[in-house]
Amino acid sequence: MASQFVPTQYLLQSVKTGQEFVDKGWTLDAPGEDDPSLIRAVYEEVQLNLKDESLGLFKFADWLPVNHMLQGSAPPVTYKSEGLAKHLGLNNLYITFSGYWPEKGAFMPTCSFKETEAYSVGGRLTADTEGVLVVASAGNTARAFARVCSDNDIKLLLCVPEDNLSAMWFDRPIKSNVKLVSTRSGSDYFDAIHLSNMICDLPGFFAEGGAKNVARRDGMGTTVLSAATFIGHIPDHYFQAVGSGTGAIAAWEANQRLMVDGRFGTNIMKLRVAQNAPFTPIYDAWKADSRQMLEFDNDEARRQVEDMDAKVLSNRKPPYPIFGGLYDALKDTSGEVLVASNEEGRKAAALFEELEGCDIHPAAGIATATLIKEVEKGTVPQDDIVMLNITGGGEELFKREKEVEYLKPDYVFDIEPDIEDVKKVLKDLF
Ligand SMILES: *Cc1c(COP(=O)(O)O)cnc(C)c1O
Repeated sequence: MASQFVPTQYLLQSVKTGQEFVDKGWTLDAPGEDDPSLIRAVYEEVQLNLKDESLGLFKFADWLPVNHMLQGSAPPVTYKSEGLAKHLGLNNLYITFSGYWPEKGAFMPTCSFKETEAYSVGGRLTADTEGVLVVASAGNTARAFARVCSDNDIKLLLCVPEDNLSAMWFDRPIKSNVKLVSTRSGSDYFDAIHLSNMICDLPGFFAEGGAKNVARRDGMGTTVLSAATFIGHIPDHYFQAVGSGTGAIAAWEANQRLMVDGRFGTNIMKLRVAQNAPFTPIYDAWKADSRQMLEFDNDEARRQVEDMDAKVLSNRKPPYPIFGGLYDALKDTSGEVLVASNEEGRKAAALFEELEGCDIHPAAGIATATLIKEVEKGTVPQDDIVMLNITGGGEELFKREKEVEYLKPDYVFDIEPDIEDVKKVLKDLF
């Protein structure tokens, strides 16, 4: 099957200037431009033709910047809600689920939508990509990349805070082409990113690129493609919990492609993104009507992150100010940033499990909580098409059915490691 796959044809484009250029393999920025701007993939196929279901996530390959297909992927699944919809009095509530829920046809073994980006990013690699892919993560991204790269023989180095290692569970062993290093207990995602940046400056390693990687965003955008192709229409409202907001930017971009496609309506979906109090930097900037993130105290932020349930939402430097980033996405879609507390998130997750039948990730609980609050406020007309992006779920179900083991770090660094130590450790690892 893989050998028959024709690489997806696309160009890259600067969102800021519209300049188009070819992908040199791993292009993350527009050449010759000084102002920071995201770049986008412009696909040759302006209409999305779904490929065979057996291809998993790659059934969306028309709109994924991929050179080849990887093994073992599963797409997000969309279905029409009954239980929660009835409870909220909504007539068109659709749930897009990324995770493990066989009854609904959802088969992601790492239980979050980070798997969509890991497959897409892996598929963007070419036969002549050399070096070790480096990914920093607070948990779900690392788990997804570890599984995908292990199963597809891609060399990977993960940087994960020691306090987040409980996220590194797997039902099958992770092969030795995947290495894991941590920043010592007391550090967070911010420190893991710092470590990964140091490593990416060394020869033989390259950054995955985060929000700047078109493959990451278009992988996540498959949640909206799943929803629109199932519903037959672009939704009116999009609810998602955000830390970086990359998923919401991806949703906006998928919306724009669907408008050009023409078969799914031409409406702009209102992005209604949610943060987990007390750590709400995107909410704070948006409320202040600021394109720049507001200043905050790092120690205070560390304490707030400790207090939040959904640690995957703890990004301190989201792609919010950058051109084509979250600020622009929210402005363009008359979007808004919402907030829910741990307590509200837990209640909403329990309600989801009771009414829909599956456990969901705390982050998805935050998104669900803000949907509930907005319905109570009367800002969601009952006949509007609502997409609730359940970005992770089925972890409890998965762990009940399978035995899991934890991947241990190959090395634990100090919070601010010395570059010479880092070099020495990495030399022994690869
Ligand atoms: C990463 C993650 C999010 C936040 O996604 P962003 O688009 O990066 O803001 C939400 N939910 C889950 C389960 C995640 O793993």
